[in-house]
Amino acid sequence: MNDSAHTHQQPPTLRGASGEGPGPVDVLGVGFGPSNLGLAIAAAEHNAAHTGPPLTLRFAERQNRFGWHTGMLLPRTTMQISFLKDLVTQRNVHSRYSFLSYLAAQGRLIDFVNHQTFFPTRHEFHDYLEWAARTVDADVTYATTATGVRPVDDHFEVTLAGAGAGVVRARNVVVSTGLSARLPEYVTPSARVFHNHDLLGRLAELPTPRHGRFVVLGAGQSAAETVEYLHSTYPGAEVHAVFAKYGYSPADDSPYANRIFDPSAVDDFHSSTPDFRRRLMSYHRATNYSAVDLPLIEELYAREYAERVSGERRLFMHGASRALRVDDRGDGVVVTVAHEPTGLTEDLLCDGVVCATGFHQMDLGTVLGDLAADVVAEDGGPAVTRDYRLVTRAATEGSIFLQGGTEHTHGISSSLLSNVAVRTGEIVRAIARDRDSSGGAPAVRAAAHGTEALGG
Ligand SMILES: Cc1cc2nc3c(=O)[nH]c(=O)nc-3n(C[C@H](O)[C@H](O)[C@H](O)COP(=O)(O)OP(=O)(O)OC[C@H]3O[C@@H](n4cnc5c(N)ncnc54)[C@H](O)[C@@H]3O)c2cc1C
Repeated sequence: MNDSAHTHQQPPTLRGASGEGPGPVDVLGVGFGPSNLGLAIAAAEHNAAHTGPPLTLRFAERQNRFGWHTGMLLPRTTMQISFLKDLVTQRNVHSRYSFLSYLAAQGRLIDFVNHQTFFPTRHEFHDYLEWAARTVDADVTYATTATGVRPVDDHFEVTLAGAGAGVVRARNVVVSTGLSARLPEYVTPSARVFHNHDLLGRLAELPTPRHGRFVVLGAGQSAAETVEYLHSTYPGAEVHAVFAKYGYSPADDSPYANRIFDPSAVDDFHSSTPDFRRRLMSYHRATNYSAVDLPLIEELYAREYAERVSGERRLFMHGASRALRVDDRGDGVVVTVAHEPTGLTEDLLCDGVVCATGFHQMDLGTVLGDLAADVVAEDGGPAVTRDYRLVTRAATEGSIFLQGGTEHTHGISSSLLSNVAVRTGEIVRAIARDRDSSGGAPAVRAAAHGTEALGG
């Protein structure tokens, strides 16, 4: 690590009680992706700026080491948000954990300025996140999965499995476990049929290709990136993209639409009626869902057109179509594709099927265990207060905070990077305020919301 720009300054520390010793830690963070990495930084900066006992945090992360969607770290892919929406800048423009500080530490600040872009490659942003994870000195136990959270007296007991197996006591829990891959119901995953989230790992283990053909399901950014990657990486193979839309449509990243990602949009969204929230989501879906960056659409179109000119076709777009069956026969997969307007079907025998078919929102049940049955429901998801506390039927002394899984209450930035800097500051402030006030955390009660139990 080239961190020379910071050698004069010790990183603010998070370390304190372990949660296994005499007292509970202030926070057990579940997951250590960008959201909880941002939380670690916000807490470290809070501790550095305040006198008195520091907030103590621990994190449990399922992966063996820090990694941000490593299966999709494809060459040529760029960030879909500005580097200024890094882990800190929108909350603390002076932070030593900014993307610009990272660039300076790597000796690339001037080169990046000359590059004249707001959108670094995902490779570079991953390197930034890894750098921040090393620099912040957070207490992270890797290869460890949280499997249950139980309120006991004035704290929670969090059950951990894996390398750090045991029970950690924490006054608050911050769940930031991200999205989980969604496969179509007619798909049985196999060595040849998999979700794009694991793309690089699964391609590395793909049985020897025999048919010179791949099929990619889906019409979003990841689907288009997968098509581009397969087409570039396997120069002898056909790539067939299958999707319900007539063609890829561009992501709306125009400046007014982008305001839906602003920190203030979270206030507006949370204070809106459920009906208006749904309308906002549908007006602005194209900022994030089933949408592709225009230059990538143009690149794929240019390739397909060039193949039409030469007559050497490898790239095929099956718009207005859907896969009816995906049948892995061991030595290859047969995908039956129906063209909706004509009803015609064709069978594509291929070496691999990549399902770029999106994600499910955070699955609270896998983290909370039995406690999930006690979570209050709101508009198809869990009830969550403006400061990101999960609402449970029974009052608890501390709180469970959510980063992610709050699209129905906090809006479209919930599962994205856009709001990490500000959100983590809000959560740290809420936790510090609770601790400093004599009665501990304000108990969050179902009665305040009058909604039904989520039931697991
Ligand atoms: C390919 C791809 C590209 C993207 N690009 C962008 C982009 O350019 N801009 C943008 O704003 N968003 C982007 N996103 C959206 C993405 O959700 C965010 O970038 C970001 O990952 C959210 O961070 P997170 O920490 O909330 O979740 P994640 O990054 O998913 O991290 C969650 C972590 O929790 C861990 N975990 C899960 N369950 C447990 C458990 N029970 N116990 C312990 N650990 C657990 C996981 O291993 C993971 O490391 C992209 C998503 C993908 C898939």
